[in-house]
Amino acid sequence: MRCASLGSGSRGNATVVEQGNTRLLVDCGFSAREARKRLERIEIDPGSLTAILVTHEHADHIAGVRVLARGLGLPVYLTSGTARAAEKLLRDVDGIREFNAHEAFEVGDIEIRPFPVPHDARDPAQFVFSNGDTRIGLLTDAGHVTRVMIEALASVDYLMLEFNHDRELLLQGDYPQGLIDRVDSDYGHLNNQQSMALLSKLEPGKLKGVAALHLSHQNNSVDRVSQCLADTLNNSGIEQIIACQDLGFSWFGEQ
Ligand SMILES: [Zn+2]
Ligand SMILES: [Zn+2]
Repeated sequence: MRCASLGSGSRGNATVVEQGNTRLLVDCGFSAREARKRLERIEIDPGSLTAILVTHEHADHIAGVRVLARGLGLPVYLTSGTARAAEKLLRDVDGIREFNAHEAFEVGDIEIRPFPVPHDARDPAQFVFSNGDTRIGLLTDAGHVTRVMIEALASVDYLMLEFNHDRELLLQGDYPQGLIDRVDSDYGHLNNQQSMALLSKLEPGKLKGVAALHLSHQNNSVDRVSQCLADTLNNSGIEQIIACQDLGFSWFGEQ
């Protein structure tokens, strides 16, 4: 099982998780046309996707879901709160499938364990994917680290994790005060320190790779995040990659 990011940040997010012939697209914050282009860049035929999963209704995660789902005839999995929040946007999408954020479900060859996160959306969820052997976790868009999150991610092999901002940069930067407060709140985004703290709580010896996602263009940098990863994972041999807005990252995991 392996994963790739089609791009990550406040201007759009989309992730692919692949096991055999099952290919899940998690979120699509790009236009459907842009998403197709980016899928081809990682050599995925858009027509070979199995389903779309949606973490929450914010535009950087859902903007392209309607057109892509209709164009490719894909089912869309989301929590009932996200479905309500996105009701107008997804009104003419067939194959809306609601899941319970506390219950595992399967799509094709992938088992999906959702877990709830504190974020300023109606009913947001993030995921752990498993093929029975390897587990890949995904966590972005969370305002603080909860016990539920730590327990869900404790024994993953690979983790895609939000490193949204450097808190000092955010607080001193030139965002409008309302936006600073939103990002910094318990229902905003994980800062570098929070993500490092979460990493240090995972089962030692299990983790094989970490991909940093959803970096703020203004309030973070690849250099800062790579220093954080180096400080936390110090010479452990754990693979480290950092997703950027335009290119995301290409395949990560095991084939
Ligand atoms: Zn987001
Ligand atoms: Zn969000």
